[in-house]
Amino acid sequence: MQVTCFPCDPGPAAWNKLLPPATARAMLDAHLTADWLIIGAGFAGLSAARRLAQLHKSDRIVLLEASQIAEGPAGRNSGFMIDVPHDLTASDYASVPESDKGQGEIRLNRAGIHFALEAAAEFAMDKESITQSGKINGAMSARGVAHNAAYAKYLDTLDEPYQLLDADAMHKITGTSCYVDGLYSPGTVMIQPAKYIRQLADAIESPLLSLFEQSAVQGLEKRNGSWCARTQHGSVTAAKVILCVNGHLESFGFSQRKLMHVFTYASMTRALTSAEIDTLGGEPQWALTPADALGTTVRRISGTGGDRIIVRNRATFDANLKVDQKRIDDVAVNHDRSYQARFPKLRHVEMEYRWGGRLCLTRNNVSVFGQIEEGLFSACCQNGLGTAKGTVSGMLAAELASGIPSALLVDQFADDEPKKLPMEPLASVAANALLRWGEFRAGKEL
Ligand SMILES: Cc1cc2nc3c(=O)[nH]c(=O)nc-3n(C[C@H](O)[C@H](O)[C@H](O)COP(=O)(O)OP(=O)(O)OC[C@H]3O[C@@H](n4cnc5c(N)ncnc54)[C@H](O)[C@@H]3O)c2cc1C
Repeated sequence: MQVTCFPCDPGPAAWNKLLPPATARAMLDAHLTADWLIIGAGFAGLSAARRLAQLHKSDRIVLLEASQIAEGPAGRNSGFMIDVPHDLTASDYASVPESDKGQGEIRLNRAGIHFALEAAAEFAMDKESITQSGKINGAMSARGVAHNAAYAKYLDTLDEPYQLLDADAMHKITGTSCYVDGLYSPGTVMIQPAKYIRQLADAIESPLLSLFEQSAVQGLEKRNGSWCARTQHGSVTAAKVILCVNGHLESFGFSQRKLMHVFTYASMTRALTSAEIDTLGGEPQWALTPADALGTTVRRISGTGGDRIIVRNRATFDANLKVDQKRIDDVAVNHDRSYQARFPKLRHVEMEYRWGGRLCLTRNNVSVFGQIEEGLFSACCQNGLGTAKGTVSGMLAAELASGIPSALLVDQFADDEPKKLPMEPLASVAANALLRWGEFRAGKEL
């Protein structure tokens, strides 16, 4: 199995840049034998490693990461660990799966969140790294208000709690008067993604659990009943391997023409001055997802690196898993427009960081989970919600590979097979046309 394509992360991982220098880790430059090999150190990989270490206290575990901890998508997302699912391939948050599957997804997301909160307590993480603050679905237009109403109806059917917020309440929280309506749901856990991921990686390392960075797996083959993964300067032989590489699963030769490689983009302001903080008003920290799924996510943060605003929007389908700087520059125009529409009083505040990152979706919103060859397991394709889904799928892949049955595994296996995509270039043309149309329809919510 030759790996054909390697991760390429456009722009800086801004959340990581806010933090002090990271733990320096070696590149793999030896030929190791282990009981377990995990490939990819994002939410799925680190959670799989933590669960394996809990289950097999004397086993040797090796984790190989192509990039550096928190430099990949795990450290460059918006930090929403969402419990109540929404379908990113649908145009609104109310288009969620039928109720049994919806409940199963909520159970899985909550198990992921629980696993993360348990790690946070065990490893003494602070509230900036992870906190259960809930999130607001914010609406700026009649279309957004209608989406929130549909979402509220859906939450009623699930008997899930929420609170509706009027324009006044939204102004008090955000300091801006652009939001006319909000839906607060309490179950979402917010993370500073790079801080959480780094602390998790630092805490699980031990003499028996080794993590190597800049160690992309270039080939994976079965030899005498074991798997052997080859990197540029070394190799790891292990009886069992868990692939936690999200969309790069396809680069290992699996799920060909079934994974949709989508990039989304974000910009973060420089630290606000105290005068600017006073001008803005509102609460020092809040987290808002757009009422229209293709609208703009906004976070106001206050902590390491100062007080800042982050906006995220736009999605592009890039089947080759790569985007260039020009794309980041093009998207910056959208980001500035969205930022200025929301924060006219701070329109002069420039963006310090702009970046993009990979998501992996399937047409029917299912993951690729389970044993894909003897001794080879997948915890991949998180459908854009990998902070919670990646965490739970990594944890469950470790349990599955250890032969531990559970009700959660039944939920995880409830997914259908991913649907096939049309041939290229048709898939790219169709997906990008749909995304552009959805963004156009999002109107003021973008
Ligand atoms: C701007 C942005 C905002 C987002 N916001 C949110 C959000 O608010 N909430 C949410 O839930 N999700 C969000 N996401 C998505 C989320 O980041 C991903 O779903 C999540 O990171 C997936 O976790 P994972 O562990 O499965 O994969 P990843 O985090 O992608 O980790 C996989 C790792 O595998 C490594 N890898 C790949 N190939 C190899 C190889 N050959 N050898 C070794 N290592 C390899 C990669 O370098 C990578 O570090 C966002 C993403 C972006 C880009």
